[in-house]
Amino acid sequence: MTLDYILKGGTVVEPHQVTVSDIAVKDGKIVQIASEILAEGVPAVELEGKIILPGAIDAHVHFNEPGNVEWEGIETGSRMLAAGGATLYFDMPLNSNPPTIDVPSLELKEQLSVEKSAIDYRFWGGLVPENISELESLAERGVIGFKAFISNSGFEPFKSVDNLALLNGMKEISRLGKILALHAESDEMTELLASQKIANGQLEPKDYCESRPIIAEVEAVQRALAYAEVTGCALHFVHISSPEAVHIINGAKERGLNVTLETCAHYLIFNDEDFEEHGVHAKCAPPLRAKSVQQEMIDLVAEGKIDFITSDHSPCSPELKDLTKRNFFEAWGGINGGQFTLLSVLEVAKEKELPLTVVAKLTAEAPASRFDIEGKGRIEVGYDADFAIIEESPYLVAKETIFSKHKDSLYENHKFPYKIVATYCKGKQVFAASADLSHSK
Ligand SMILES: [Zn+2]
Repeated sequence: MTLDYILKGGTVVEPHQVTVSDIAVKDGKIVQIASEILAEGVPAVELEGKIILPGAIDAHVHFNEPGNVEWEGIETGSRMLAAGGATLYFDMPLNSNPPTIDVPSLELKEQLSVEKSAIDYRFWGGLVPENISELESLAERGVIGFKAFISNSGFEPFKSVDNLALLNGMKEISRLGKILALHAESDEMTELLASQKIANGQLEPKDYCESRPIIAEVEAVQRALAYAEVTGCALHFVHISSPEAVHIINGAKERGLNVTLETCAHYLIFNDEDFEEHGVHAKCAPPLRAKSVQQEMIDLVAEGKIDFITSDHSPCSPELKDLTKRNFFEAWGGINGGQFTLLSVLEVAKEKELPLTVVAKLTAEAPASRFDIEGKGRIEVGYDADFAIIEESPYLVAKETIFSKHKDSLYENHKFPYKIVATYCKGKQVFAASADLSHSK
């Protein structure tokens, strides 16, 4: 067997151990992992002192193509993820337009992604009030699950489901053996609180945060879990922002419900004090929480209470964040941060002294196993040669190294303790921070 190349002497993060090893790659797959692999005439990449993690899997991004490519797009979005060590993403059914709520809209997205994506991808389908009859054909076409909103989606073409539509949708998704991902915030509570704030002319970031309190997340989570008991539908809660919700979801898991949760990197790295520096670029829903809540969420990651970490990368055109044209409540809520999930988890791991195997689990192995993605998420013989190559050295985020379409980001000026030096997807180098790490076969 002629190998394509060998990654030499890196610190390799396998599922249950970290070793200094060589990795042999052939036809986009890992074919051997050993302390020393000798093969004459095979190109070698020297990675002594570098960490090799499985390519990260981001289960929650919004690339908004087709329809809203001026917000991000598949090409820029996938290159950005590659620069962040990711090799696979699951694109949300909104804010592309048409949203992915039937087979033609899914096919359109598939065609565009084949042409444009730098790394691997899967798609979420949408559950909206009028598309229950479409769910089966979407499942057959391979969506990894369905996404629904029980709060306002903020995107007109993607309607949120009322309680009855949610129950009916969950019954059908359960029948199809799929997972429903939910944005869980009580629409009634957030509507009421926001309208009071706006009527009083209270339009500061702090007011926005107070209009989306933790109790709104808790109520929606409890309601959805009750519906899961009734329908048998498997649930995945996206962007959980509060320890209270984490505890409730873990309690349901212990009772035997098929349920998982993610939090996002920004809830671990930032808090509501960051509005001062970043203003509207720190706006998201649920909002950034108090510093004490951030610390509790970090502790819960360390305790293994959070299944995996995503970015919820959801940028927009600069115009939609322009506070000279709209108030803080009206501005787009979404974080431009898909490039920084793996680095954020590494930062948390360093702070809490977590092993690198935990980083691999939170960023790759757990999402792959939750969504049955074969051959991905682990550094193991037979798996895809998907790698994030990391160096332990400070990396200050600056506009020049932000790869998303727009450069305004909450992460600007954040200093990470690690940096991504290269990324490989199915054996192919899809990112290199400097020329000395690029190699040709
Ligand atoms: Zn999202």
